[in-house]
Amino acid sequence: MIQAVDHIGIAVRDLEASIALYRSIFQLSDIHREHVEAQGVDIASFELNGVRIELTAPLNADSPIAKFLEKRGEGIHHVAFRTDTIGADLQRLADNNVRLINTEPQLGAHDMLIAFLHPSSTGGVLMELCSEKS
Ligand code: ZN
Repeated sequence: MIQAVDHIGIAVRDLEASIALYRSIFQLSDIHREHVEAQGVDIASFELNGVRIELTAPLNADSPIAKFLEKRGEGIHHVAFRTDTIGADLQRLADNNVRLINTEPQLGAHDMLIAFLHPSSTGGVLMELCSEKS
């Protein structure tokens, strides 16, 4: 069951510059850093009352984030929803003709399983489902 907003992904070109910006806006001391090779991204994240903000920069030109930046520029990239039934959710959505970018869960940041839904099926919003690895 989809339970909550887990995080908001923000596409950035320059991770260090974005970290400095977000540090000053939110007066952050602690920022989690992570390379996610499987997704081709470099992430800096912090949490506000249970909702993570993920600043996401591409590791290479083939990264989906690089393509997004090229097309749309910096800004909100996706909204991620936490679920405890990611496999069943993907099956249910596929059965309801929701176009899936990932038909099977993939390994994402924070060692979680993730899958993206195609924005053409979700009113223009790139949605991610994410789940703890069980
Ligand atoms: Zn995400």
